[in-house]
Amino acid sequence: MTATPAAPLTNWARTLTFGARAVHRPGSVAELQELVRTSERIRALGTGHSFSRVADTTADLVSVAGLPPTVEIDPARSRVTVAAGVRYGDLAEQLHRAGFALRAMASLPHISVAGACATGTHGSGVTNQGLASAVSAVELVTGDGDLRTLSRADDPEDFPGAVVALGSLGVVVRLTLDVVPTYDVSQVVHEDLPARSLGRDELDEVLAGAYSVSLFTRWRGDDVDQVWLKRRTDDAASDHPATTFHGARLAAGPVHPVPGMPAASCTVQGGVPGPWHERLPHFRAAFTPSSGEEIQSEYLVARADAAAALTALRGLKERVAPVLHVSEVRTVAADDLWLSPAYGRDTVALHFTWHKDPGGVAAVLPAVEEALAPYAPRPHWGKVFTIAPDLVRSVYPRIGDFAALAARLDPTGTFRNDFVDTYLR
Ligand SMILES: Cc1cc2nc3c(=O)[nH]c(=O)nc-3n(C[C@H](O)[C@H](O)[C@H](O)COP(=O)(O)OP(=O)(O)OC[C@H]3O[C@@H](n4cnc5c(N)ncnc54)[C@H](O)[C@@H]3O)c2cc1C
Repeated sequence: MTATPAAPLTNWARTLTFGARAVHRPGSVAELQELVRTSERIRALGTGHSFSRVADTTADLVSVAGLPPTVEIDPARSRVTVAAGVRYGDLAEQLHRAGFALRAMASLPHISVAGACATGTHGSGVTNQGLASAVSAVELVTGDGDLRTLSRADDPEDFPGAVVALGSLGVVVRLTLDVVPTYDVSQVVHEDLPARSLGRDELDEVLAGAYSVSLFTRWRGDDVDQVWLKRRTDDAASDHPATTFHGARLAAGPVHPVPGMPAASCTVQGGVPGPWHERLPHFRAAFTPSSGEEIQSEYLVARADAAAALTALRGLKERVAPVLHVSEVRTVAADDLWLSPAYGRDTVALHFTWHKDPGGVAAVLPAVEEALAPYAPRPHWGKVFTIAPDLVRSVYPRIGDFAALAARLDPTGTFRNDFVDTYLR
């Protein structure tokens, strides 16, 4: 069960080397319980797609990828109980075959359910909450090795703190998610959205222009390079794609968000309907998502501040563009999960896929963060940021409640690491 890798373990993008003294891969929940019971300090690892040191530790690291990948669908209650290490792509296929769906997916299907929910991962859509909002129960191994379940129904006080928890309450082994009847989505991409469409009123319309909307820009000019529109086919307003969208024109063929990258790795465009899980992510499961040679950052601000925040970022375009593959603008509906970046506010998410240039990225991040500071940005926990810990804490009104919950569930700090000690004190 304990494997010390031949080469040091890195995150997916190979931008971080984990400092773990040992990496474990238990094959059963019982083995995991024994491991946690005998470990002084331990962190859970999902698929390792985070760019921040949120999963890192100098103590024990435990991958949940070796646990049996169970997916138990309960059609009568419209819910699914899934093993923590299952990837969204695998879960989605099984759900779809059984006639069910999730409301939202991230841009890639490769990430684990537990890892994505732990950091508040999101897709896009003004009515779509982050992925963790589908969770109605989490089952975790706590520091004493016991199994404990927290559910929305039975633990209403603690539950909002227990889902987006950055791995700091225990090792999650199973999650129960709400599901909906399966649906089809058609995706079209428009190019060159004029800057005039980014004013406050029209921007609201643009961002609400489909079930899920993403704007991609390289900040080379004032216009937005691409608008990705994902429409549900059961939505009356989702007829054939118009040739223009707020002044942007329909792309002539399939495109990749990062210019120069092959569109074959992207989900089907051109308005061809297909199952939700083959359209909501931008990238196909069988391909490398995004660029691969990258670092990511993302800041989430109130949707009401979207136009002002974009104007502030546009003022930095000369500094941002040289280090950037592409930026993405998405929306996330408000939720009640204490550490969710969309906690208590309808949100716009301002994302940066940077070149794999740590020095260049480190030089530009403070300027980006200063430009966004008036809008109380919440950095994505799984991406790179330099905002001071006090400021990060100040934008999470329930962070004190989370600290109290962590102190109760993990009194000996078994699951803490430097990242948690820095931001969640
Ligand atoms: C190409 C790419 C595209 C991305 N697209 C999006 C996107 O569209 N939207 C978005 O919001 N984010 C996106 N991200 C970020 C990504 O979703 C998050 O970093 C997510 O947390 C990664 O999941 P993971 O399984 O790799 O988790 P890891 O990086 O392995 O771990 C993340 C955290 O989860 C904890 N964790 C993992 N498993 C468990 C467990 N079993 N029990 C307790 N804690 C656990 C870890 O301790 C850690 O704190 C993207 C990242 C990449 C590389």
